[in-house]
Amino acid sequence: DTPETTFKRVMLKISGEALMGPQGYGLHPPTVERIAREVQTVHDMGVEICMVIGGGNIFRGLQGSAQGMERTTADYMGMLATVMNALAMQAALEQLKIHTRTISAIPMDQVCEPYIRRRAVRHLEKKRVCIFAAGTGNPYFTTDTAATLRANEMACQAIFKGTKVDGVYDKDPMKHDDAVRYDTVSYDDCLGKNLKVMDATAIALARDNNLPIIVFSLDEPGGFKGILAGQGTYTRVQ
Ligand code: UDP
Repeated sequence: DTPETTFKRVMLKISGEALMGPQGYGLHPPTVERIAREVQTVHDMGVEICMVIGGGNIFRGLQGSAQGMERTTADYMGMLATVMNALAMQAALEQLKIHTRTISAIPMDQVCEPYIRRRAVRHLEKKRVCIFAAGTGNPYFTTDTAATLRANEMACQAIFKGTKVDGVYDKDPMKHDDAVRYDTVSYDDCLGKNLKVMDATAIALARDNNLPIIVFSLDEPGGFKGILAGQGTYTRVQ
């Protein structure tokens, strides 16, 4: 059964850690395949899908700079990590016969496409999943900001941030039994109360362009499809 959705084009943001499954590091192929199937169910609804995948399962710039590496070098390594994750997701989606393009903010023509906005829009119109890799292409940014930037450029209706929990809570629900989930929360409350949604740069960029952020659990099977059809629990940042 394929439920109805009002969404035509969306951005799915997941962290690199979402791909490492039960391991403490790197890529866990069954987990990558599971997420690819979640994307497939939404693709089957006719929704145009953009994706940004982080790199934290492989390398984070801050971790490198804490070990004495120059921050910019470490950040470029983090961006390269996101390209590896994007290629893994592309491979899993193509196993499911979904046409996919990996589009990198840093040109590496032998590996994937360079980012050309109008070309990416064309891919989406042809129902190809576009995975935006290498973040924004700039150090000192995050993939949350990259997802917000590309979502704006691609005119997505919302960013869907797939996490381990089903929304935004007033405190960490993994640590506090009495944590309360917000149904909706304002951008300014996210910033002011320092709620763990996305980093401040990303939230400000979403706020300034009225781009809603929908935080939901990617651990629920069928969760992504359900959220697009307005079912299940989630938090809408608006
Ligand atoms: N990064 C960057 N510029 C960007 C996006 C990412 O420098 O526009 C680097 C940064 O070092 C970051 C790493 O890539 O730590 C991995 O991205 P992120 O931490 O956002 O991944 P996630 O936490 O979502 O897995």
